[in-house]
Amino acid sequence: MANKIKIPVAEPDLSGKEAEYVLDAIENERRISSSGKYIERFENFGKKFFKKEYVVSCSNGTAALHLALQSSGVGTGDEVIVPVFTFASVAASVLHCHAKPVFVDVNSENWNLNIEELDKKITHKTKAMIAVDSYGMPCDYDFLVPWCKKNKLFLIEDAAEAHGARYRSRPVGNFGDISCFSFYGNKIITTGEGGMCLTDNELLYQKMMIFKNHGRCARGVYDHEVAGCNYRLTNVQAAIGCAQFERFEEFLTKRQKLSGWYRQFLAGAPITFQSYDENEMTPVCWLFSILVKGDLQKLSEQLASHGIETRLLFKPLHKQKPFQIFAKNQSFPNADYIYEHGLSLPSSVKLTEKQVKFICENIKRILTNE
Ligand SMILES: *Cc1c(COP(=O)(O)O)cnc(C)c1O
Repeated sequence: MANKIKIPVAEPDLSGKEAEYVLDAIENERRISSSGKYIERFENFGKKFFKKEYVVSCSNGTAALHLALQSSGVGTGDEVIVPVFTFASVAASVLHCHAKPVFVDVNSENWNLNIEELDKKITHKTKAMIAVDSYGMPCDYDFLVPWCKKNKLFLIEDAAEAHGARYRSRPVGNFGDISCFSFYGNKIITTGEGGMCLTDNELLYQKMMIFKNHGRCARGVYDHEVAGCNYRLTNVQAAIGCAQFERFEEFLTKRQKLSGWYRQFLAGAPITFQSYDENEMTPVCWLFSILVKGDLQKLSEQLASHGIETRLLFKPLHKQKPFQIFAKNQSFPNADYIYEHGLSLPSSVKLTEKQVKFICENIKRILTNE
């Protein structure tokens, strides 16, 4: 087995006011369930940074997707367009609504929905699209927003991996009819576990508020409008999130540096990166990931022997047991290629330039010795 990992793929930085706020919630405010000042503050941070009118905090990013689909009226027999190369819960949330995921291959350059494939995927049953800002890269919203409007689809934006990324100066999370965020431990802002939906539509907002609270008409009342779920975030989690949001700009600056260091120190190596048009997009470095022509297994094992953790990219959904029946007789060559050649490198904001240099030197040495 490899040496102990010294540089993990992801690690949150909790060195701000996280502990202070958590203690305050417990000892002073004495609110640890789903009401309290930190929930309110946390939601206000969401509105401020992602620039939407209404915000619904929730228990995780998958719950956010379920809330978004459910309140959009997605149900039995409906079809929802999703990228085939993404985290499994994007497609699972569609199944939770008894609808059918329709997979679309990704673009080999930016790893997001391949817009050229979209027209082929529309049927009279298509109700919504989930656009994922994959690995911190904004989707092409100049295309997607009018395309969804023209085809009368709800646009659900899954910005779980892209907090703080921008498309034509607008923050991601600002484009969808509903946008969804995850605050899991490896995301750019974390609450440990947590999520958020944002919208400008008051009706969708109200539906989400009801559904996330057991389908109740109001808090503390045993009158239920629908069979909902319990998707509430706690005040303790929100307290962590407030401390994180206070350092959002600092985190983004650091992540910009990280990606700059990786690109600089890996220059000349037989490696490619996610690419994009700099005039349109400001991605955020989530898990900095590379495509390598050589032997991935060997590269990751050898890096591990130097204490450097890496991770394979998302296994495309058409290759996974719960979803393959929705992809019969279809092929997704770009997703396959990215999966077969991709590796995520350590991407914590705690990394130093020296550590990134050490990682890159090891990568270059291993690849040239092949
Ligand atoms: C992390 C992630 C999710 C799931 O979020 P959880 O908080 O873990 O439920 C959903 N979509 C994408 C694109 C993600 O990366």
